[in-house]
Amino acid sequence: MIQQVYSHPDIYRIRVDLPDNPLQYLNAYVIKGPSGNLVIDTGFNRPECKRALGQGLQELGIRLQSDTALFITHLHADHSGLVGLFAAAGCPVYMHPVDYQYLVDSEDGSTWKAAEDNFMREGMPPEEIRTQFSNQARTFSPDPHFPVTTVQDGDHLHLAGCDLQVIHAPGHTPGLCCLYLAKEQVFFTSDHILFDITPNIQVWYHMKHALQRYLESLQKVRDLPIRLALPGHREGDTSIVGRIDEIMAHHDRRLAEICHLVKCYPHSTAYEIAPHMTWSMRGKKWKDFPPTQKWFALGETLAHIEYLVDHGTLRCCEEQGCRRYDLI
Ligand SMILES: [Zn+2]
Ligand SMILES: [Zn+2]
Repeated sequence: MIQQVYSHPDIYRIRVDLPDNPLQYLNAYVIKGPSGNLVIDTGFNRPECKRALGQGLQELGIRLQSDTALFITHLHADHSGLVGLFAAAGCPVYMHPVDYQYLVDSEDGSTWKAAEDNFMREGMPPEEIRTQFSNQARTFSPDPHFPVTTVQDGDHLHLAGCDLQVIHAPGHTPGLCCLYLAKEQVFFTSDHILFDITPNIQVWYHMKHALQRYLESLQKVRDLPIRLALPGHREGDTSIVGRIDEIMAHHDRRLAEICHLVKCYPHSTAYEIAPHMTWSMRGKKWKDFPPTQKWFALGETLAHIEYLVDHGTLRCCEEQGCRRYDLI
């Protein structure tokens, strides 16, 4: 399903459904230019997404060849999964080097193994970690063997007849990049800012202080003049300031909630704290959460715990290979 979201330049959204995933669908954006095109993000490496993206491109009359570039906003498989299609057709692929390196490192499983070991130290039982092996982020991820043109914060890409500014916004992933059309004030937010769900913030093996970095990245874009914000999932909006303030308030509430829980349950592991947090999982209780959601929820809890430890509010002590937290 395609929808034109802007004219001059002509920007289209292809809705790529993500089956069995609470995100529901990915927004792949296409800028159709006079002598070339740009596609932003792809969907998972699975047949349903391939079909949806392919159909959308076909409706727009775009054949994958060297005059169509792909920009991958971040490493997550729902954004990068189908990069192989583009690479095989000779399309130039743009991405931040940190996230590209993650894709390469995850190929032999070492990135996942590091995350598993870390979650084990945070109290997640081994049998629950084993259930993660079918996580969609793993099973539908791309083959990382593709030539990439790396981008940095502040780069200007001249693609599809547009001047696109790269804005590196670490937090949701270490190398997430937004794109900004300054003249038109159109902002591709990717998963940095979403409007009816809150972007997930995790702990990262190679990026310390994920929540701190994320909050800084929100500030970084808060004053951008924006007429249209186009997010990676769900619907967009015309203004981001109000949404940024809501997201910041959400994280403040989460931090306060964790302090309260550590006070009620001193010397707990992150895995023991997580079930007591407020999660909006359609009324489901923690024990009924799908394994993937438990994984993301524990990661989110940990990102907030890390912030509180960094800011001298919580103390961590490791006992028999397990981390426990107390208020200072
Ligand atoms: Zn993401
Ligand atoms: Zn996403």
